[in-house]
Amino acid sequence: MGRLSGLPPMIGTLPALVQPAPKIADPFYLSPEWRRLMADIKRHRGNACEDVGPHAGRIMGDHIVEVKDGGARLDPSNIMLRCTACHNRKTHREKAARARGQRGVG
Ligand SMILES: [Zn+2]
Repeated sequence: MGRLSGLPPMIGTLPALVQPAPKIADPFYLSPEWRRLMADIKRHRGNACEDVGPHAGRIMGDHIVEVKDGGARLDPSNIMLRCTACHNRKTHREKAARARGQRGVG
């Protein structure tokens, strides 16, 4: 970051087909169903990271069995609340495990 190329913004000039995929490719995470479920879970469990406990940071929902591994998307028992740090840590660990052909780390 920090080395901007000086290209003019291209918003509005590209046809929809050519737009790059967003980082979170799955629009499910923007859906009203997911947001409603997250609000519900937070109301029940509190705005706390289930790995390290209550804290002030952003809390997000994390699938225990990932959806691409067949986990249920909207089942609260398959969803943990995690802060960004724990979420990233877990995601990186699972990616590494996946790359080694292993499963079930953490
Ligand atoms: Zn945490």
